[in-house]
Amino acid sequence: VSERGEDTDLSVFESVWTNARIATAKDGDTDLVSIIENGAVAINNGRIVWIGRTKDLPIHKVDSGTVIHDCMGSLVTPGLVDCHTHLVFGGNRSREFELRLQGETYEQIARSGGGIASTMDSTRNTSSAELEHQACRRVLGLMHEGVTTLEIKSGYGMDVDQELRLLEVINKISKVMPVRIVRTLLGLHALPSEFSGHRDQFVKVICEELLPTAISRDLVDLVDAFCESIAFTSEECSRFFQKAESFGIPVRVHADQFSDGGGAELAAEHSAISADHLEYTSEDGVIAMARSGTAAVLLPGSFYYLKEKQIPPIDSFRKYGVPLVLATDANPGSSPVFSILSAINMGCVLFGMTPEEAFVGVTRNAAAALGLQSEIGTLEVGKIADMAVWELEHPRELAYWVGVNPCREVIVGGDRIHLSVTDRWTLDGQKG
Ligand SMILES: [Zn+2]
Repeated sequence: VSERGEDTDLSVFESVWTNARIATAKDGDTDLVSIIENGAVAINNGRIVWIGRTKDLPIHKVDSGTVIHDCMGSLVTPGLVDCHTHLVFGGNRSREFELRLQGETYEQIARSGGGIASTMDSTRNTSSAELEHQACRRVLGLMHEGVTTLEIKSGYGMDVDQELRLLEVINKISKVMPVRIVRTLLGLHALPSEFSGHRDQFVKVICEELLPTAISRDLVDLVDAFCESIAFTSEECSRFFQKAESFGIPVRVHADQFSDGGGAELAAEHSAISADHLEYTSEDGVIAMARSGTAAVLLPGSFYYLKEKQIPPIDSFRKYGVPLVLATDANPGSSPVFSILSAINMGCVLFGMTPEEAFVGVTRNAAAALGLQSEIGTLEVGKIADMAVWELEHPRELAYWVGVNPCREVIVGGDRIHLSVTDRWTLDGQKG
């Protein structure tokens, strides 16, 4: 397979990555995953300007100023995208983990004041600096595994001031870390105890105060809501989404995780860019998602930790052409999984996705679940040069190994990021 980019740019290449086995994750390839053997990628201004076989590289565009990286046969893929995380929080819920192992259910723990409410308390009692410090370490862990874009949701503040504080923390992380971060306001996550018996009032505060203020401070890229019997009804989520739509902010939904609450249909009604979890989604829900172009984000980490039994309707998603996506759902309660490679493995072993579907599910389709498909998610001319270099031969190995991190290099916007074991990072000093 050889593919040549359009030769419209006459300048020399700033950097070239050569001798790579390139898995582009591009749409339209005959196989889900096609490999460019002995390939090369050329980068200018942070974007891919040429990709193809190394032997076809336009050599007149390479001069003494071009930085050449020899991949020595390593696999190069798009940087991975973790499109669903809740990684800004205080405390942890390891005690609940023990209780669940003794037989208590997530719902029982949630209804007795544990669950999300306990993380709300510990998050409210943690300083912004400490939240930021802990979250940055989690982000670095994901970057070590080739993640170059991730989404972070607020949601553990649960009142106007606290949610704004979390969004400020997320915004700060997006500015200081060398990674692309999408900021999501998870406005309806759980009802805080101070509003118990006043659900309507709470939803109103979120819609009328929190959302407009957060948007006016430019802290929100997407919104999300938890549509579930232990969280918020379809109608309540709908009010929130309508408000977001009036500001032009795209929506996502935590849908049908523990029961079929019509979450997929709700997502489709609001043309959500994704619906997430989906264990109990009906065939009608799948069809609605296919019609609205809503991606299915599957989160095997929480399925695994909660020892759930019902897997999402993968065959229906395939049948109706709904894009399949995988993410960590990194959070302290239901999915203390801060490893995209583990999520890929679980997606295959627990949900029956193929390794190729899983690969596309953390690259091209995950980019689409964040509305970023025109910028990232595949390696092709014009896209941002977000890449990962692996000591692997084929992307299927991303799903195969457990407890091994084969990621050798992470490149964000053409810049090689140095990630050391001491969790300090630096840019390379020069582009490339
Ligand atoms: Zn979640």
